[in-house]
Amino acid sequence: MDYYGSQITKLIEELSKLPGVGSKSAQRLAFHIINMPVEQVQSLADAMVHAKTGVKYCRECFTLTDSDLCPICSSEKRNHKVIMVVENTRDLAAYEKTGKYEGVYHVLHGAISPMLGIGPNDIKLKELMQRLQGDVEEVIIATNSSLEGETTAMYISKLIKPTGIKVTRIASGVPVGGDLEYIDEVTLLRALEGRTEL
Ligand code: ZN
Repeated sequence: MDYYGSQITKLIEELSKLPGVGSKSAQRLAFHIINMPVEQVQSLADAMVHAKTGVKYCRECFTLTDSDLCPICSSEKRNHKVIMVVENTRDLAAYEKTGKYEGVYHVLHGAISPMLGIGPNDIKLKELMQRLQGDVEEVIIATNSSLEGETTAMYISKLIKPTGIKVTRIASGVPVGGDLEYIDEVTLLRALEGRTEL
């Protein structure tokens, strides 16, 4: 039954499509939004639309950014000879939060999963191999320690080995099956420092 009126119901419906937002949270958010000053609601809506339409892939590392080259790739302070391979932009953000990693990244946008029919051509792997034709000393594979993450790590290390570039894998301080983005910074740093050569 539509006891809120169709516009409120529509807002609740749209909000409940977001990940992690159940119908109760959606209601709470909807009523919060309705009580916000209209300028604030407008600025929230604008931010969402601008982020969606303005965001693209960095031409170097494929992270999500709003310029041609992301701030990390365009920074002279970063070591461009060390590339950390991560599954997604959220994992990159997790490592950036530690503030201790000085290399650059490569974002795969997924992991190889025969079960889900995701093959090497479905992630940004060709693009990684192209980058390795430049001056690269080490590739740190920081995919998740899930089955897909491990499969991807093995696949990448086999591809890179013949090039003679050093390939390392972050240590298993990261719990098995754990998503990097949920792991605390100390554990992430320990995993990075304890990386082993593949
Ligand atoms: Zn970049």
